[in-house]
Amino acid sequence: MKDLDFPLFKTRIENSPKFDLTDVEQRKEYFELKAGEEIKKLREYLKKNTFIAYLLGKKNSGKGTYAKMFKEIVDKNMIEHFSIGDMIREVDKELQDPEKKKELVAFLEKNYRGFTPLEEAISSLEGRTTSKLLPSELILALAKREISKRGKKAIFIDGFPRELDQVSYSLFFRDLVDYRQDPDIMVLIDVPETVIDERIKHRVICPLCNTSRSLKLLPTKNVEHEGGKFYLSCDNSGCSGARMVTKEGDELGIEPIRERLAIDETLIKRAFSLYGVPKVLLRNSVPVDKADEMLNDYEITPAYDYELKDDNLPTGRQEIETIEKPWQVNDDNNNPSYSLMPPPVVVSLIKQITEALKL
Ligand SMILES: [Zn+2]
Repeated sequence: MKDLDFPLFKTRIENSPKFDLTDVEQRKEYFELKAGEEIKKLREYLKKNTFIAYLLGKKNSGKGTYAKMFKEIVDKNMIEHFSIGDMIREVDKELQDPEKKKELVAFLEKNYRGFTPLEEAISSLEGRTTSKLLPSELILALAKREISKRGKKAIFIDGFPRELDQVSYSLFFRDLVDYRQDPDIMVLIDVPETVIDERIKHRVICPLCNTSRSLKLLPTKNVEHEGGKFYLSCDNSGCSGARMVTKEGDELGIEPIRERLAIDETLIKRAFSLYGVPKVLLRNSVPVDKADEMLNDYEITPAYDYELKDDNLPTGRQEIETIEKPWQVNDDNNNPSYSLMPPPVVVSLIKQITEALKL
């Protein structure tokens, strides 16, 4: 973030074997090597205890990815990843069903308190456009309902606080959802805007199965060349090599969400200045000149480029060569940096949460 640098976190281990971090099995071995002790402590802790962690990161920074990976590695059964956005989409569906709507309204009549009349709050839910905000008090009541449905587990909350007033609400949130004995933690995530921008710009999807990939960052096995451009084709067996396409608007990158990103940055800085709540600081990037000291090279996100080989194949088509190199971007303070794969960020998350819980 501009003018706010989170501390670097060292995940480098001398003589580490090389792991393919996109492979589920190798990823398990990787976590065992880098955070085995902490994972054991967390599992033991979660047998009898929980925590609430608020994920604060910019839109499209991939915060859900980190929480889901933490859950996959540490304890699938005792950890929930809870997204306010998903919750609102579910509530939207409930409102279409008269029976479910009745139940929802009955719950809110008992549990909602706020400055907007309930009828108005509900209609703002029904007639909402993306730019229109829901009252924070309504979101709180809905979150309470959703969390109570899931049984008492550790939760990562994604999407709350979303507005400045909600930072103060988050201080009392665990009381509201009846987790008052459990520790709560703010997880602040710093991802350079250039990373978010390029992720959006290079994103392609399969028109048949909707799988999302990236020409630059996550290619399929099949790359094609036509009319001076390279394309990916879907390698799912049912799609018979359908050409993956850019979603309309993605070529604009972060332009359409600049305002949202600015609000998110203010939120993160606001939460950063909070007292009394433990904070976990995660960073997605490491300055190029610190990389050797802090990271093993397989922890850096690779970027892919393509070139046509000179010699033609017998079919008359040219062979395509894929060039892999570390993905380098300028961070928000203009330092040349490498972007990290999700696993090293999650190692940092595991270690810092263990510390925040004093295990
Ligand atoms: Zn497909």
